[in-house]
Amino acid sequence: FGIDNTDFTVLAGLVLAVLLYVKRNSIKELLMSDDGDITAVSSGTRDIAQVVTENNKNYLVLYASQTGTAEDYAKKFSKELVAKFNLNVMCADVENYDFESLNDVPVIVSVFISTYGEGDFPDGAIQFEDFICNAEAGSLSNLRYNLFGLGNSTYEFFNGAGKKAEKHLSAAGATRLGKFGEADDGAGTTDEDYMAWKDSILELLKDELHLDEQEAKFTSQFQYSVLEEINDSVSLGEPSPHYLPSHELSCNADGIQLGPFDLSQPFIAPIVKSRELFSSNDRNCIHTEFDLSGSNIKYSTGDHLAIWPSNSLEKVEQFLSIFNLDAETIFDLKPLDPTVEVPFPTPTTVGAVIKHYLEITGPVSRQLFSSLVQFAPNSDIKDKLALLSKDKDQFAVEITSKYFNIADALHYLSDGVKWDTVPMQFLLESIPQMTPRYYSISSSSLSEKQTVHVTSIVENFPNPELPDAAPVVGVTTNLLRNIQLAQNNVNIAETNLPVHYDLNGPRNLLAKHKLPVHVRRSNFRLPSNPSTPVIMIGPGTGIAPFRGFIRERVTFLELQKKGGNNVSLGKHLLFYGSRNTDDFLYQDEWPEYAKKLDGSFEMVVAHSRLPNSKKVYVQDKLIDCEDQVFEMINNGAFIYVCGDAKGMAKGVSTALVGILSRGKSISTDEATELIKMLKTSGRYQEDVW
Ligand code: FAD
Repeated sequence: FGIDNTDFTVLAGLVLAVLLYVKRNSIKELLMSDDGDITAVSSGTRDIAQVVTENNKNYLVLYASQTGTAEDYAKKFSKELVAKFNLNVMCADVENYDFESLNDVPVIVSVFISTYGEGDFPDGAIQFEDFICNAEAGSLSNLRYNLFGLGNSTYEFFNGAGKKAEKHLSAAGATRLGKFGEADDGAGTTDEDYMAWKDSILELLKDELHLDEQEAKFTSQFQYSVLEEINDSVSLGEPSPHYLPSHELSCNADGIQLGPFDLSQPFIAPIVKSRELFSSNDRNCIHTEFDLSGSNIKYSTGDHLAIWPSNSLEKVEQFLSIFNLDAETIFDLKPLDPTVEVPFPTPTTVGAVIKHYLEITGPVSRQLFSSLVQFAPNSDIKDKLALLSKDKDQFAVEITSKYFNIADALHYLSDGVKWDTVPMQFLLESIPQMTPRYYSISSSSLSEKQTVHVTSIVENFPNPELPDAAPVVGVTTNLLRNIQLAQNNVNIAETNLPVHYDLNGPRNLLAKHKLPVHVRRSNFRLPSNPSTPVIMIGPGTGIAPFRGFIRERVTFLELQKKGGNNVSLGKHLLFYGSRNTDDFLYQDEWPEYAKKLDGSFEMVVAHSRLPNSKKVYVQDKLIDCEDQVFEMINNGAFIYVCGDAKGMAKGVSTALVGILSRGKSISTDEATELIKMLKTSGRYQEDVW
């Protein structure tokens, strides 16, 4: 097909992609100059081969993790190598090391890589990516490795980072042992994908390294000691040591918190406003406004806000009870190995760790079951646990399908008998770390510079297998709901909330409605030229960034008018979907925006559960507006999709392929290729989860 407007802009987009790559490299330099003090090793070197050799390691596990999942699996894998084969394993974040000496690493290396965004490596792995992608043919010929990628098949570039790593390691002459493992979160099989890959790799390693397998025996990486007294340096759940009273640098003379605020240290942000956007029988949606004044945090419209949650009082109590733990116990942890770091501020208390640092409510992994066998309280329970940990189908029926968390599952197995045989160190090292949850910012940095808005649907549904059991709840969204009610003077005791929280936080750090947050940059950006047409597709809370986009355009136009400039905006067409009219988010705001944008903003709404009507989704509405959508794309429109990654984003992509294929009279394959190019060039952006 001949060159027309769309093709031309795709070519221009490719140039943009090259520019973006160059920009990524300058981001890398920025990151590198910042993280010089992260190095975990006593000698202070970042040289990977030197660290492995100096510490007499005989196996290396590397991870590149965005949200903590790759890290969690890398640590599980390392622990199993130690427990079963007594190997001296080093498990390291690629962010903390330099890899020029990778070819000299004298041991087998397992690499765990998660994929982020458009097939990208995690933020902290830019330097690692750069190294392996530029490694010359033959330059890694001594390296023996295996690789496990963590991805989501609902995304276009499924396991993109893992695949890229595999391609470049192999091209550089490294030898892969075993198959390239791929976990698919989209199919909900990450855990089982890992187990299958791991079993095959362990078999292979047994042969390769002549290992004798012993009955799994947990060896702690830390020295655990109980302390007597609380003092100012004991963490009660402060999100980082900077918030301890003993820490001199937490505030400047004006009482302003000192940054930078990122994944290692959040800003304690006051929630200045929160409201319920809708409430129906089984669903609530909360709008929350965080004040970033005094933090020096700058955000851009389209970025994400990370919220650091804590566990609910009920779930903490349940966990303490099944393991028969005393929340008040104060303890310290000291690494027994210089390549290991304590993952949370210490000394601390048992209660603080469980409330603030451990992910105690999510689904249970079969791997955790198998490592718990050694600590079963009696032989009957031990047999049952061992059986379930080996039988993935039975595990799915008895544990996963019932939405059991670890405490539920162990209670069910032991019929209430306490698991006080499990050492605290095991729990600290085996239960995943609590990770911040990300939210697409629904405000505009042009209209509200210091305030960040977040739009969250509260995760709370009845357990389908066990209708009489407690509902299945999300950690952060229920916390936001609790805060919203408290802030609006609702007596929480009189509500039927499924869970409650300590809203004041450690040492009242979060009193008067505050939460720890940081901003994560995204590439989800409006085109810089305001006359470029824009198509936005965002059902449900996928509307969040588009509220930010539209508020941005409104303020932009107001400022231009004030300055006497006559700017014409390109068409901004928003496809929104909700179940019915009750859960139509921000419905009072849109007509106001349309008025202010002088006709350049139009909204098309789909409802999927209106009484006596057929289900209509945003994809259907795209087809209804096919001619307009095609014309806009042909005139260089940028396309944005936000919300559900599983069904919606794929459905939208398919609808757009159809529209392009019919509009241009090209084959579906050609249209698919065109959509792919639009994605690569940044003209089709997704913010999906
Ligand atoms: P979690 O505690 O993380 O639980 C997740 C789910 O698991 C819940 O449905 C919960 O009910 C269920 N669950 C709990 N226990 C179990 C169990 N034992 N077994 C099985 N399931 C269980 N969300 C929004 O609402 N708005 C946004 O704008 C938004 N933007 C996002 C942007 C990005 C880039 C990403 C990655 C995600 C975004 N999300 C958004 C999703 C958000 O980050 C959270 O995942 C979501 O709010 C749930 O968080 P939670 O802590 O409440 O639930």
